[in-house]
Amino acid sequence: MAEFSLQLNEDQKQIQSWVHEFADTVIRPAGEEWDEREETPWPIIQEAAKIGLYSMDFMAQALMGDPTGLTLPVAMEELFWGDAGIALSIFGSGLAAAGIAGTGTPEQIMEWVPQCYGDVDKVQLGAYCVSEPDAGSDVSSLRTRAVYDAATDEWVISGTKAWITNGGIADVHVVVASVDPDLKGRGQASFVVPPGTAGLSQGQKYKKHGIRASHTAEVVFDDVRVPGSCLLGGKEKLDAKLAKAREGVRTGEKQPAMSTFESTRPAVAAMAVGIARAAYEYSLAYAKERHAFGKPIIMNQAIAFMLADMATEIDASRLLVWRAAWLANNGGYTNAEGSMCKLKAGRTATWVTERAIQILGGYGYVREYPVERFHRDAKIMDIFEGTEQIQQLVISRAISGLRIE
Ligand SMILES: Cc1cc2nc3c(=O)[nH]c(=O)nc-3n(C[C@H](O)[C@H](O)[C@H](O)COP(=O)(O)OP(=O)(O)OC[C@H]3O[C@@H](n4cnc5c(N)ncnc54)[C@H](O)[C@@H]3O)c2cc1C
Repeated sequence: MAEFSLQLNEDQKQIQSWVHEFADTVIRPAGEEWDEREETPWPIIQEAAKIGLYSMDFMAQALMGDPTGLTLPVAMEELFWGDAGIALSIFGSGLAAAGIAGTGTPEQIMEWVPQCYGDVDKVQLGAYCVSEPDAGSDVSSLRTRAVYDAATDEWVISGTKAWITNGGIADVHVVVASVDPDLKGRGQASFVVPPGTAGLSQGQKYKKHGIRASHTAEVVFDDVRVPGSCLLGGKEKLDAKLAKAREGVRTGEKQPAMSTFESTRPAVAAMAVGIARAAYEYSLAYAKERHAFGKPIIMNQAIAFMLADMATEIDASRLLVWRAAWLANNGGYTNAEGSMCKLKAGRTATWVTERAIQILGGYGYVREYPVERFHRDAKIMDIFEGTEQIQQLVISRAISGLRIE
């Protein structure tokens, strides 16, 4: 077990300042432009690839080269401090990579994770496709079907996925589908859909409230045929899992989407901490500069105490994130600590960014200043990768041992 420490080690400090530098000099200055354009910021992803930040190697180093688990959340906080829409465009492929790493065989991981990133000469994207128009929180009721065609050793996938980050523009789509609808969540499997596969298309692209630089769209699977080798984990493992589920044997194994989301929760919560910190720092500086009634507005306790609360909530959120990240790598969660950090950090980001608008007054409400964007961006943190209420559900079940509905 790695020792838990609030003191980052030298490697972590180096990564923190390296990502911060990129966020400060490349991401933050471009935030407003790409928010307005509502387009994937390809040139910035390219810049991130050039310095090795957008790469499988960086993700592997952050995930596997760090027994404390803190490196990834530390990097995510800095990245999202820069600008959340652009940062999600850089991190979005990570969810597909996590889906492959979590359920794939070593051979599948070696084949497909690098293709989620490509290389400096040809940057590629990954997308993780779980949610559907009628199944977001309730991932056990997915309607997308995957049917095995034994004659050709292929899987045929049909259905529509909703809200997919990088959906339709990704090179590699990882899709969670039902192979036996009677078994609900226990009858699901994950598949890789290789680049250029016929039958996969982009549906509507959503016009969003925030993180507008990040592409979010429907993905339509119209009898998409993928080779048997694209079933993550392999057919033998799936058949054994289905047989146990049909016999009613409980294995404790999680649904593919749930285990992916659980592993990524501290990283997602760290994104929320980054957005909150950006808004806090901006409004702190503003409060020292802005004068009203002949003195800086921070000299009023009403403003200074708001900033004190903001700083406290951000630190509390980060501590929960670091605890969860450490536990995830050192023995696992015992009381849904991953959900606790996501719940707390999401709420903190939404609240802190709203307070930042308050501190800037009218200037906080207009697009010339970044805090209204931070606030629009923050709200997603209460919604995706498990809503606020779903985190509460997970926590309440863990602490009570009861199947709370
Ligand atoms: C910008 C964006 C990017 C996204 N990226 C991806 C992606 O890359 N891949 C992907 O698969 N999905 C993605 N999603 C989907 C996201 O994960 C879902 O939107 C989310 O899980 C909520 O599902 P829903 O929207 O269907 O809401 P619903 O599940 O319909 O929930 C609606 C409301 O009901 C509440 N609720 C539902 N069930 C319960 C319950 N049992 N108890 C209490 N309250 C409940 C929810 O908390 C929520 O407040 C993305 C969404 C957005 C907006």
